[in-house]
Amino acid sequence: MGRLDSKVAIITGGARGMGASHAEKFLAEGAKVVITDIIDGKKTAEKLGKNCTFMKHDVTKREDWERVVADTEKLYGPVNVLVNNAGIAKIRPWEQQTDDEFEMHYKINQFGVYLGMQVTVPSMQKAGVGSIVNISSIAGMRGNPNGIAYTATKFAVRGMTMCAALDFGKYNIRVNSVHPGVIRTPMTMENPDVDKSLVEQMGESNPLGRIGDPIEITNLVLYLASDESSFSTGSEFIADGGQIAGL
Ligand code: NDP
Repeated sequence: MGRLDSKVAIITGGARGMGASHAEKFLAEGAKVVITDIIDGKKTAEKLGKNCTFMKHDVTKREDWERVVADTEKLYGPVNVLVNNAGIAKIRPWEQQTDDEFEMHYKINQFGVYLGMQVTVPSMQKAGVGSIVNISSIAGMRGNPNGIAYTATKFAVRGMTMCAALDFGKYNIRVNSVHPGVIRTPMTMENPDVDKSLVEQMGESNPLGRIGDPIEITNLVLYLASDESSFSTGSEFIADGGQIAGL
């Protein structure tokens, strides 16, 4: 028996990185999974196999969310797991931070999470149960040099998670946030807007002395998506090699 048997999950930003890792594990545990992304994720879905479908999706667009939820219902039934994982990170000194880029962080990392919850909850109400996992960051728990736009959104995700948990508890829908430390993904390793040497340095400076792997976040997300976490809602779950323990 799988830990996610009978679950229908939507994972945003699932074409690569941590989203693809979550999808792989969810499928192995018996879920039906829709991965969505602004980039093409057809190959990822094919590789992940049966019970996985890719849908093109811009998380900043309400109509995209409505289409994704309706099509998921048609394919697999009402949604009972949502992982709001899609995100961007552009690390900039204050002087170089443009208004457009600040707004882009807001639209994708914050507004996208809000829209996802609002549009998906009616489907979860049909299912009679739901778990929403919002991916924040340890950047949502402390100040970060050169990271005002990203950090603002990740704090917001943490706050929205608590509000949603209070509002949705009566529908048997749980909402929690996950706060990864530095993880080896395209966002950290192949991103021209993130200094790779700084990433390595951050990894080495945590108590475990290394960067994390996507599976180390996936295992936490899996727990929150499953009924094993049935009494947890409105909570923050950190996996960061101890990075912020010393703050
Ligand atoms: P990746 O960049 O590898 O994957 C994120 C995916 O989301 C990309 O495919 C990206 O596409 C996509 N995306 C961007 N904008 C949109 C949009 N408007 N609609 C739909 N999809 C979109 O990132 P990670 O796997 O590293 O990160 C996943 C989550 O974890 C993010 O929320 C991130 O902030 C968070 N996180 C990551 C950490 C890390 O160290 N990697 C640490 C802490 C938190 P595109 O290529 O176009 O950007």
